[in-house]
Amino acid sequence: MNKRISALAAILLTVALFVTLFGNFFGEPLLSFAESDKVIYLTFDDGPSDRVTPKILDVLKTENVPATFFIVGTQAKNRKNILKRAFDEGHTLAVHSYSHKYKEIYSSTEALLKDIEKCNELICSITGEFSHIYRFPGGSFSVPQKLVKAVEEKGYNTVDWNASFRDSEIKNASARELYCAAVATVANPKKIVMLAHDSTDKTETVAALSKVIKHFKNKGYEFKKF
Ligand SMILES: [Zn+2]
Repeated sequence: MNKRISALAAILLTVALFVTLFGNFFGEPLLSFAESDKVIYLTFDDGPSDRVTPKILDVLKTENVPATFFIVGTQAKNRKNILKRAFDEGHTLAVHSYSHKYKEIYSSTEALLKDIEKCNELICSITGEFSHIYRFPGGSFSVPQKLVKAVEEKGYNTVDWNASFRDSEIKNASARELYCAAVATVANPKKIVMLAHDSTDKTETVAALSKVIKHFKNKGYEFKKF
């Protein structure tokens, strides 16, 4: 009898331990091991540039993490080799804008969709596929709702951000300042979409990048691309 009770107790204990560590039958795990439920998406806007983008690719390669590049067509048309490299190394090329001229692209729905299409044709000429990922220049919150609706009706997933290097806001920022901004401005700690830029003047962004990646690796984040 005693043997049976202790066997039962052992089974119950094992089950309890298993449920605690790996999850219950109805929902989230009660305790998560590697905190792999935390994800971060690195995103780079406004490139490619000869000076900065290849260096960013070098860092991403060394750290072995993927990223998403929201490209600008006028920047990309003579730098397809850089984007080809990004694509070949496993990163996502996504639509930002062909001209990136707010006045033109936001003048009408037709103008916006035409700009997006032109940028996407360029992406297709590199990757062989059209992208369905789009980021509004300035963010979706800065444009009229009807434009957001029109873009989404065309089948695009629009992507904003909830954390940022602030490398387009802080004037002459040092790598240290950008690092502090990137790790401080996290709105949703479970899913971070990090905004940074790879345009030609963003050399300090490159200088801060590896430290930012290490920070989030140490915090248990999984790096993903769109
Ligand atoms: Zn932009």
